[in-house]
Amino acid sequence: DSRIHAIKSKIRVVPNFPKPGIMFQDITTLLLDPKAFKDTIDLFIERFKGKNISVVAGIEARGFIFGPPIALAIGAKFVPLRKPRKLPGEVISEKYVLEYGTDCLEMHVGAVEPDERALVVDDLIATGGTLCAAMNLLERAGAEVVECACVIELPDLKGRDRLNGKPLYILVESH
Ligand code: 5GP
Repeated sequence: DSRIHAIKSKIRVVPNFPKPGIMFQDITTLLLDPKAFKDTIDLFIERFKGKNISVVAGIEARGFIFGPPIALAIGAKFVPLRKPRKLPGEVISEKYVLEYGTDCLEMHVGAVEPDERALVVDDLIATGGTLCAAMNLLERAGAEVVECACVIELPDLKGRDRLNGKPLYILVESH
């Protein structure tokens, strides 16, 4: 698909951000190109429409950019999965391990009904810990996670192996 090459070319790689040795994949440059941004969303819509998905769960913060346009196009609700102490209502929380220390995602109780079919969206999968925590939140609420979707995969980190066999749809790989 020629759209993929254009999308990849718009992702800026910033060396040594946020710390030395990290090659940061910056999607803000993709957002500056309306054609490439639209193609990104269209590719996800083509993949997920007609799959009876009623929930798109987006991970803070960049899952909030790509998730909502997908949700609107496929007729699903959008559920934000947020960092701790951001959501005002009653929440369930899921901790996960980072390179140094731990982090946590939260979801509002009642945002998802049992047996709803969910798609999890983020910009990038590295170690897979974040997507794994997101899936756990949805499954604890009784939803079925149908698939995960990211713009970028860092396949060398083997994050896919942490998704318990759940399908992961990505547009671009970065080595
Ligand atoms: P993981 O939990 O898979 O190790 O890390 C994925 C999470 O970290 C995602 O929420 C993603 O937004 C963020 N992340 C890690 N590295 C990068 C990067 O190079 N670029 C961007 N845009 N996000 C990153």
